[in-house]
Amino acid sequence: MLQPPHSSLQVAAVPAQRVPVRDRDQDAPWHTEAVCRRDEAGLFFAPSKEPTAARLSREEAAKRVCARCPVMVECREHALLQPEPYGVWGGLTAAERRVVLARRRRRDVELKNAARTTGRIAAAG
Ligand code: SF4
Repeated sequence: MLQPPHSSLQVAAVPAQRVPVRDRDQDAPWHTEAVCRRDEAGLFFAPSKEPTAARLSREEAAKRVCARCPVMVECREHALLQPEPYGVWGGLTAAERRVVLARRRRRDVELKNAARTTGRIAAAG
């Protein structure tokens, strides 16, 4: 990992077991363009016992990095599909990703129900 250019934003070092999460996906094409590879990896994962104010500040700083990342969409989908349980990915915190996933599940159920209803109407007609 390269030394980040804006170390003043760093809140804490990334726990060693969490750094490789991004580095595990070496085969993913989007990964090579990830801004966070040259950036402050400490912004993306919470250190243990991080106070709420510090977490919010760190997450906002991470999101600012994501906002200028050319692979934000790919990264976000990766994190949603895995799903990645920790950290900021694709500009979303873990809690925000849970909300997106819950919405997707609800939408899938609604689509399934609509398809069933349509099938019943078609069969009856
Ligand atoms: S969107 Fe954010 S977390 Fe994802 S690769 Fe880009 S900078 Fe890293």
